Amino acid sequence: MTYFCEDCGFVFCRTGDIRECPYCGEKRIRTAAEAEGEQLDYPGTETGDESGIY
Ligand SMILES: [Zn+2]
Repeated sequence: MTYFCEDCGFVFCRTGDIRECPYCGEKRIRTAAEAEGEQLDYPGTETGDESGIY
């Protein structure tokens, strides 16, 4: 799974749950697929960063 940090833009690959960016330590992590698909599939969830949608 590829993840990306909304805070610093760091992109990294991990398996399993990721809660924090390994680079900056912020918790605004998204999967790359989720970020790419959100405009099509999740038009209203862009502010739900900490709602456990990962
Ligand atoms: Zn980061």
